[in-house]
Amino acid sequence: MQKQQLLYKGKAKTVYETDEPDYLILHFRDDTSAFNGERVEQLGRKGQVNNRFNAFIMQKLAEAGIETHFERQLSDDEVLVKRLTMIPVECVVRNFAAGSLVRRLGLEEGMPLTPPTFELFYKDDGLGDPMVNESLSISLGWATQEQLDTMREITFKVNDVLKGLFDEGGLMLVDFKLEFGVFQDRIVLGDEFSPDGCRIWDKETKKKLDKDRFRQSLGDVIESYEEVARRIGVPLA
Ligand code: ADP
Ligand code: UDP
Repeated sequence: MQKQQLLYKGKAKTVYETDEPDYLILHFRDDTSAFNGERVEQLGRKGQVNNRFNAFIMQKLAEAGIETHFERQLSDDEVLVKRLTMIPVECVVRNFAAGSLVRRLGLEEGMPLTPPTFELFYKDDGLGDPMVNESLSISLGWATQEQLDTMREITFKVNDVLKGLFDEGGLMLVDFKLEFGVFQDRIVLGDEFSPDGCRIWDKETKKKLDKDRFRQSLGDVIESYEEVARRIGVPLA
């Protein structure tokens, strides 16, 4: 598969076309951003850690019967994926309260959410990824009701699979974000699953081991990503 024209440079990944119209190459960079791109830093090894982490998780999800865009890892920091028509809505599941939910409703961080919640955010950095709902997503033409139903169903299935995986590593999956797209009329999981887009805490100490270490300037960001990777069995170099 030949890498061709640069299609899009995002905050953390660069997207390239390939010689096959249905496939793209995602290059995971070391750039780490927070607050909708207001703060950006280069963190050594992040690109390769997230690429390996994502490849491992996508394969676990495929084994559980979830269709993803993942085809194969091409190098330390590149992956070959199916080219999706992305739906500009982020799907967030929360098992425990944290982040924007705590800020918005004044909840205690770590409060269990039973059953887990499901939220939608419009993917738009300029607007700060505002919260939206199904009605808006349909009326604004981002997705159909049927597509939203499928996205919600897959997101909860991902939660069930990954909660178990992290639990075995002594970790809590607090919340996470997924992005979906359409491939040949089917809803397919796209983008990435890595500590950049989820919250993971140590079960005993509640130590944060995800991107909150960067957002909150807690230090040892990539070391924490690597610890999570080791504890769930991701093969690191
Ligand atoms: P952002 O756009 O939020 O800055 P990234 O730096 O991660 O994010 O850039 C990756 C971009 O590629 C995102 O916009 C994401 O929606 C898009 N993307 C991810 N997977 C696919 C795919 N399989 N097909 C097409 N686009 C994808
Ligand atoms: N998230 C993400 N990208 C975004 C917004 C959120 O990956 O643009 C993830 C975030 O890492 C967390 C979950 O989605 O795991 C919920 O994020 P939240 O709404 O609490 O917002 P935040 O506190 O990150 O602003």
